[in-house]
Amino acid sequence: MLGLMQNQPLLISSLLTFAERHHGDGEIVSRRVEGDIHRTTYRQLAGRARQLASALDAQGLAMGERVASIAWNGYRHMEMYFGVSGSGRVLHTINPRLHPEQIAWVVNHAEDRVLCFDMTFLPIVQAIHSHCPTVQKWVMLCDADKLPADSGIPNLVSYEAWIGAMRTDYAWPQFDENTASSICYTSGTTGNPKGVLYSHRSSVLHAYAAALPDVMCLSSRDAVLPVVPMFHVNAWGIPYSAALTGCKLVFPGPALDGKSVYELIEAEGVTFAAGVPTVWQMLLTHVRSQGQKFSSLTRTVIGGAACPPAMIAAFEDEFGVHVLHAWGMTETSPLGTLCTPKKKQLAWPLEQQRALQQKQGRAICGVDMKIVGGDGQELPWDGKTYGDLLVRGPWILERYFKGDSPLVEDASGLGWFPTGDVATIDADGFMHITDRSKDVIKSGGEWISSIDVENIAMGHPAVAMAACIGMPHPKWDERPIVAIALKPGASATREDILAFYEGKTAKWQIPDDVVFVDAIPLGATGKMLKTRLREQLAGYKLPGL
Ligand code: ADP
Repeated sequence: MLGLMQNQPLLISSLLTFAERHHGDGEIVSRRVEGDIHRTTYRQLAGRARQLASALDAQGLAMGERVASIAWNGYRHMEMYFGVSGSGRVLHTINPRLHPEQIAWVVNHAEDRVLCFDMTFLPIVQAIHSHCPTVQKWVMLCDADKLPADSGIPNLVSYEAWIGAMRTDYAWPQFDENTASSICYTSGTTGNPKGVLYSHRSSVLHAYAAALPDVMCLSSRDAVLPVVPMFHVNAWGIPYSAALTGCKLVFPGPALDGKSVYELIEAEGVTFAAGVPTVWQMLLTHVRSQGQKFSSLTRTVIGGAACPPAMIAAFEDEFGVHVLHAWGMTETSPLGTLCTPKKKQLAWPLEQQRALQQKQGRAICGVDMKIVGGDGQELPWDGKTYGDLLVRGPWILERYFKGDSPLVEDASGLGWFPTGDVATIDADGFMHITDRSKDVIKSGGEWISSIDVENIAMGHPAVAMAACIGMPHPKWDERPIVAIALKPGASATREDILAFYEGKTAKWQIPDDVVFVDAIPLGATGKMLKTRLREQLAGYKLPGL
């Protein structure tokens, strides 16, 4: 027997319709590539998203066809989130930090029909356009008068001229909630990128879940700054959750340096901000150097890479900003776990609470997770036993776009997504990433977590960033070394760093060597790129070998 409730599909357009009706004057503030601060509202944004949808109709784009963006976080990008997906097309957000060849590869793989880009990315488009035969229309996200006279790109139009003349009374179509809404490619540190194709249903369910009190706890009273880019995993779903709650949105545009981010937080009364640790490192360095404080920021979600304990302590104890550590992947939309304490943990001593915050947290309802051993058997939730982390749920990938399904089946036939991460889960359900399985260091039959080695080094006052990798060793298989980038003007010797490990970890987990580098190579999403670091250290030999 079926239930007798209205069968309304979960569509992304419904989030914007809600925001328009109930939070029409809700603010959306953007720092633009033009350099100024732009202000709009959900009401205006909804009208312009409908104009964009009309423009796509006029262009003759069928349902399911792909429209690409190469853009910073801003209101026009947000209009694309809703105008493209809401009208049944698929938004392909492209990471501008990929190599141009990789960008052309993903454009061709996705068979993008329209590509909209911020002015700053004109050189990328100039480099790739002749290699992208599927693209019928190139659109620069700017006013008509900003369009360069001689870009070399055939029929280039400005976004404002393109959508400006279109109707605002477009009616959002209704269709199956399992229809594809957007696609994001993994950054492809090994091999070609893989396309993760989200659906309306997965995106809307994720948006509801993300806003929950034990997740990001978003409300109409918040002012939210997604520093995490809209070109990577839909800015952790924040544009959708923002429309769902009607919170004020503050977009940083291209200015991600500590000073610009701090000024925006203060000027716009930001209460909640989201980003990867490397970005927060820049913010903290700036704020400390200026002796500044946060007057409105109360919490920040940090994820995408392990948040060093020193960063958690700095936000909490120096600045009174609560840190929510989160874990997720492109394949998980991305929110999988978030570290919010349970009631009993609030009574724990401070040190124990800080240790808890280093864990990546509890599964969000909708995500099921487990750890398994090499034989696929589930391992205990004791906080000590580590195994491969598997997840499943309605916003977890089933199959890559034009690709295979990576799922592994359990005894009952259920498919689980293997995350490639190694983790423990404690009795309270808090998951702690030990490492990526490809980064973990296998030393004498034991595993050393590269994250643990890095976290200790990051606590040293002279260290700006640390990356630990395993080096081949004839007796132990591998031994860890740590590459260190020092803070500007700071100094420390190899011996200082090694001495800093004494008493903080087991002796055999202390790295065998310290290598000083100017900078740790970062990948397209601001995470440490250990493959590049390994290349840089190609001729390296462990001491004594
Ligand atoms: P890529 O970095 O290849 O583009 P993703 O952005 O999807 O891929 O990153 C997912 C991976 O990032 C996870 O599998 C995990 O290894 C790592 N990661 C994400 N959040 C955290 C976290 N809070 N702590 C440790 N690792 C994390």
